[in-house]
Amino acid sequence: MELTGSSAIVTGAASGIGAAAARALAAKGATVVVADLQADKGEALAEEIKGVFVQVDVTNTEQIADAVKVASDIAPLRAVVNSAGIGWAQRTIGRDGLVESAHSLEAFTKVVQINLIGTFDMVRQAATAMSQNEPDEDGCRGAIVNLASVAAFDGQIGQASYSASKGGVVGMTLPVARDLSAAGIRLNTVAPGLIDTPIYGEGPDSEAFKANLGQNVLFPKRLGTPEELASMVVECLTNAYMNGEVVRVDGGIRMP
Ligand code: NAD
Repeated sequence: MELTGSSAIVTGAASGIGAAAARALAAKGATVVVADLQADKGEALAEEIKGVFVQVDVTNTEQIADAVKVASDIAPLRAVVNSAGIGWAQRTIGRDGLVESAHSLEAFTKVVQINLIGTFDMVRQAATAMSQNEPDEDGCRGAIVNLASVAAFDGQIGQASYSASKGGVVGMTLPVARDLSAAGIRLNTVAPGLIDTPIYGEGPDSEAFKANLGQNVLFPKRLGTPEELASMVVECLTNAYMNGEVVRVDGGIRMP
């Protein structure tokens, strides 16, 4: 699928995997709507890639609608990446923790609202806009990639909300891809392993992060890079024969 002359939306594009995906989509010729809570970083990236920043909280359905409208007004919206998310290791600021002590219903709800419901809301609204596009020679009107996590398959201690939210993203992949196929829209999910981004509250240099790193037999010394993830995101968006797939990009840390 060609992206030149199209618009794209990347949520969570101010940082990490989303930022790398936004750069990669711009390099493929799309005009990218950088959709994120963080205005300073988002605006800087939009300027760098000649895109547009729209401040979006993915738990706010009107703000998602704004981003979809901005993108569709620029050019047909053909690519969406749902990368906005919050992590399980941010227990220091009270969003996560052990079930019997720190994992409150409020924390659980917040993680699920951002990572799962926010993702579904963007899928829903973007699909409505994409269904108006002219189909390409394959009958395709657009493509969507959601970011899950290997935590969907193998959650760790203190990770209940995060694994539940990402398990939901994996679980909706097939039914949503089947629904959207009728409208000529493909949907795939990418499940990252340990990637060098700020999502771990204390950062990639923290002890928690390093302890996880040691689990990877093939890559005991390095994390994955946002660019390695962005490359798979672009493949899922542009490879016309990929649909309803969940792809792990984790250096083999969660081989079944
Ligand atoms: P990151 O923290 O670098 O980027 C996440 C971005 O999402 C940030 O810019 C943040 O401002 C934005 N965001 C958070 N809440 C938001 C909201 N309510 N509305 C809009 N934007 C919001 O993290 P990352 O590592 O790039 O993560 C990207 C995706 O990949 C996430 O869904 C994450 O769960 C997933 N993931 C990451 C890893 C990893 O090791 N880095 C592993 C597995 C899955």
